[in-house]
Amino acid sequence: MATEPRPTIVVDGLALASELRAELASEIAGLVTTGRRPPCLAVVLVGDDPASASYIKGKRRACERVGMGSVEHKLAATASEAAVLERVAALNRDAGIDGILVQLPLPKGMRPNQVAAAIDPSKDVDGLHPLNAGRLLLGEPCLVPCTPQAILKLLEHFGIPLAGAHAVVIGRSAIVGKPVSLLLLQAHATVTMCHSRTRGLADHCRRADVIVAAAGVPRLVRGDWVKPGAAVIDVGVSDVDGELVGDVDTEGVLGVASLVTPHRRGVGPLTITLLLSNTLAAYRARCGA
Ligand code: NAP
Repeated sequence: MATEPRPTIVVDGLALASELRAELASEIAGLVTTGRRPPCLAVVLVGDDPASASYIKGKRRACERVGMGSVEHKLAATASEAAVLERVAALNRDAGIDGILVQLPLPKGMRPNQVAAAIDPSKDVDGLHPLNAGRLLLGEPCLVPCTPQAILKLLEHFGIPLAGAHAVVIGRSAIVGKPVSLLLLQAHATVTMCHSRTRGLADHCRRADVIVAAAGVPRLVRGDWVKPGAAVIDVGVSDVDGELVGDVDTEGVLGVASLVTPHRRGVGPLTITLLLSNTLAAYRARCGA
């Protein structure tokens, strides 16, 4: 028997991000009124990847809009790993800097884990330092990677029940797949982590109440992979002949999923917002504000 199509909420991530940014702006304004300096984020960009340049521009604008300071440190693609580590060390020492983000991907030959480990864990707003990653694993307070936090925030905002739900996460990176799996587990979901060697990915997805697609494979998740009523979070962004495409066939899941995030104005704006929120949290922890 054919199932009735159901209304699917297409999440407006920008609207939700605007609400959260207004709260951050008012918190920062409150701090400044009491004579404190605003929090400040430092972004390190190595090389001239156009997508990274565009991301950091978005981050700078977002900082400005909430009244947060931001500084950019650009290094040439030919810079050595030692030069990047030196720059990070200088930012660690700088008392006026609260958050440090080294934009990924780094040029070939540079070790992202090495660079992340060089950041002062109290300024590690991307949550990639081993201390923060370990604390997340242990369920202790820490700076958590922004996209996973954004996903949980979004699920919470739309009242998607997680306790006892089956969540399928596609992707096992340190910045999205693994931390979002840990956060879902903390929220009492039963989590299946999938990756490029997973067999029967479509069948895993068909059993899921929540799907988080973070593989970077265009339109991987199709409508017939989704259980009626499931929530589908599209994290992936791929450039296909100049067009940005997500990991989910959004059109295909309409009328099946209860909720879907589009690849544009979905998780992206919230990720930047959580970066601002992490920077404010790092500032408060460091300044005791
Ligand atoms: P990543 O480090 O390349 O990891 C991709 C993961 O997907 C890997 O674990 C890989 O498995 C898995 N994978 C690849 N092909 C697969 C397939 N056919 N089936 C199942 N799993 C597969 O990427 P990432 O940094 O986690 O980012 C993932 C995507 O999200 C990218 O498109 C990125 O641009 C996007 N992103 C978006 C935001 C946002 O704010 N919207 C933020 C961060 C990332 P293996 O481990 O086996 O290789």
